[in-house]
Amino acid sequence: MNKDYYEILGVSKNSSADEIKKAFRKKAHEHHPDKGNGNAEKFKEINEAYQVLSDESKRQRYDQFGSNFEQAGGFGGGAQGNPFGGFDFNGGGFDFGSDFGDIFGDIFGRNQTHASRRNRGIDLEMGISITFEEAVFGVEKNISLEKQDTCKTCKGTGAEGDSKIVTCPKCHGQGQIRTTRQTIFGAVASSVACDRCSGMGKIPEVACKTCGGTGALRQEKTIAVKIPAGIDNGQKIRISGEGEAGYRGSTPGDLYLAVKVSASKDYARDGFTLHKELPISFTQAALGAKIIVKTLDGDIELKVPSGTQSATVFRIKGKGVPHLNDPGRRGDLMITVHVVTPKKLSKKEKELLKEIAQERGEAVQIDDSLWDSIKESFK
Ligand SMILES: [Zn+2]
Ligand SMILES: [Zn+2]
Repeated sequence: MNKDYYEILGVSKNSSADEIKKAFRKKAHEHHPDKGNGNAEKFKEINEAYQVLSDESKRQRYDQFGSNFEQAGGFGGGAQGNPFGGFDFNGGGFDFGSDFGDIFGDIFGRNQTHASRRNRGIDLEMGISITFEEAVFGVEKNISLEKQDTCKTCKGTGAEGDSKIVTCPKCHGQGQIRTTRQTIFGAVASSVACDRCSGMGKIPEVACKTCGGTGALRQEKTIAVKIPAGIDNGQKIRISGEGEAGYRGSTPGDLYLAVKVSASKDYARDGFTLHKELPISFTQAALGAKIIVKTLDGDIELKVPSGTQSATVFRIKGKGVPHLNDPGRRGDLMITVHVVTPKKLSKKEKELLKEIAQERGEAVQIDDSLWDSIKESFK
């Protein structure tokens, strides 16, 4: 189910970051589980909405992809035991919980966590197009992108050559500058991240000349991406750590790949089930036949029993799409047969069919010229 985060916070779609923050605080206070009339579920929901809407890149993604962004949560399961190796799906991982104090952060003071969070590299998103068959069976692709990547000269430390990393002289290694100010809660001490060391408490003695001390440079990178079997159009893959480099070796962001799957002319896909249409002749339908049918796994023999009606569906087990989170399991292939009436008959075929009609006592149109004139009159 797609949640409307704006509605949860009671704000409009074009509200500012400040308005969102205010609305969040008000709602969070209202529903805080520690309060007598608090509501833990609601509080969690409010927090989840805020985690997305307060983060510019997450908000943008949510605005753009809405339901997909949510829907991908179905493939959660996280990094542990991830069968695809190296990356996992966007499990809607808004890491709420770990950052519960964030609401009151600027009242009660920020800590080191906030510095590292802020210094984390930003997430990137790009599209990738694959064929229908590649989506079914999985594929490996090399993708190239230009991004802020770790500086090769200093390896991300931001220090020139052998120059040392020293304690920041401005914050004396605290990473924060504390100030006291008057608020409606009275005098409170607050801390802001030190601007000299960006909250890290340490700085390089001599800044790297290649990257200017940030530890990152804009450059092109090629990444090998393994797209798992069973992925569907519109789903996203998160490649952990392949976003932009963090400030001076801080955690890098993630790369999100929005997968676009081209349509197939032979198959329609519905989840892990494939559908295929198969024309058969009226004699095959009446007498029964063994028909060679193309599937994604090669040709198979379909036994059509005698007396098969048009629109009958045959289920071929295990010839559909592999389950995304359980690749050993596959969906089925559904083949719908259509009995095709021949448009042209030879003289002999007509004679034979007339005989059948007589045998069955069925009234048939015998005179072709008469039939043609009737058709003509309806034109
Ligand atoms: Zn450098
Ligand atoms: Zn500092």
